[in-house]
Amino acid sequence: MSIARTSCMNNGWKLQDVIDLQDSGLFYGEYESCEYCHHEQIRFVHILHHPNHPNPLRVGCICAERLTNDSITPKKREQALRKRAERRKRWLKRNWIWSQKGNLYLAFTDRETHEKHCVGIMPREDYYKVWIDEDRGTLQYPTQELAQLKIFEVLERRRENNG
Ligand SMILES: [Zn+2]
Repeated sequence: MSIARTSCMNNGWKLQDVIDLQDSGLFYGEYESCEYCHHEQIRFVHILHHPNHPNPLRVGCICAERLTNDSITPKKREQALRKRAERRKRWLKRNWIWSQKGNLYLAFTDRETHEKHCVGIMPREDYYKVWIDEDRGTLQYPTQELAQLKIFEVLERRRENNG
């Protein structure tokens, strides 16, 4: 029996966050089980919070809808994450070009703001550094792909903050 069932807290839960476990580098077979119904292999984990419960509950979409009594928001948040995951996959397949200096860069125009951007990564001896327009990143990334994805994360966060 799950924590939620034993304490009879079948309502009053609030949706706190939804996460895509693929974002953390996990794949099918490594996903979580719903803490409420024990359904296995949940890629999108809905994190629910309850004022009278010390720990958050990590559940699948259907249980999130039931426990929060909201049939719209959990699905909507999950769909937004699916779209983000598609953008992330496409990001790596965009027209990245090796410069003569040995940097891998991508020049593009933002579809929404129509601003031009140039981002790229600089391979060093055993790590990679990134830049976004005029900003040079200080962190080091162990692989080219992680460096490229870091740029994606930063641009996505900016997008979210802009509306
Ligand atoms: Zn469930």
